[in-house]
Amino acid sequence: MAQIEAVLGDITEQRVDAIVNAANESLTGGGGVDGAIHRAAGPRLAEAGAALAPCLPGNAVATPAFDLAQVKHVIHTVGPKWRGGGQDEAKVLASCYRESLLVAEGLGVRSIAFPAISTGVYGYPVAEAVSVAAWVVRSMAADFDLIRLVAFDPATHALMAEAIEAPVVERCETCGEVGVPILFGLPTPIAVAAGEAGRLKLAGCVVHGDGSDPQWECPNGHQWTNNDPDDPRVLVAIAEAVDA
Ligand code: ADP
Repeated sequence: MAQIEAVLGDITEQRVDAIVNAANESLTGGGGVDGAIHRAAGPRLAEAGAALAPCLPGNAVATPAFDLAQVKHVIHTVGPKWRGGGQDEAKVLASCYRESLLVAEGLGVRSIAFPAISTGVYGYPVAEAVSVAAWVVRSMAADFDLIRLVAFDPATHALMAEAIEAPVVERCETCGEVGVPILFGLPTPIAVAAGEAGRLKLAGCVVHGDGSDPQWECPNGHQWTNNDPDDPRVLVAIAEAVDA
């Protein structure tokens, strides 16, 4: 299980296996953190990026880190531009973190640092963005030793630190009670114990997988779904219920 931490600093100064770049679709550099990473890695980064472009929002691709000697890989992901929140921005942003971690895993990366993707020029409200980041990295922490969220200003750092510790609180829309996550599939003995202790609901092996399966249940037996089969909050809630 990875240590997850929030630090205040410059992403180009991190000593980790991989850093993530908040890139644009051209992968040839830009402003903000993208510009800083390209300056530190040297001109070969833009050449390598151009060969892989375009990278669509929510996707991630890796290049070497070139002149950034203390890092092995740069993973480039393209965040969503904030358009008010109704254009699947949260799903695309969650996908940036998830896809970056999947690419990292494929490269054997054990430690990785992320900037606050989309919170600069792309205008994503910082509190919401760092909480999406925290849910996704917490849900995938088992596959890494260290996941570091790097803030460039103190306000972002404070919000990141809060988000990585925030408990999952999901309330029932019908009765207002706090729900527990529903776990499908054959449970491990630890999951059975968590189920008996009321920290999660065991639902057996019949899964539709089309988004209609319930994800939460409250003490009054109401069940509901957030309509996102990849909702990282459910995955965090299950992992933490089993781990408690
Ligand atoms: P986006 O286009 O995805 O919004 P930006 O680069 O404009 O990307 O900003 C993303 C975040 O990266 C912002 O919070 C910004 O303050 C931060 N940032 C800028 N430079 C650096 C850096 N050198 N190290 C870490 N974070 C940085």
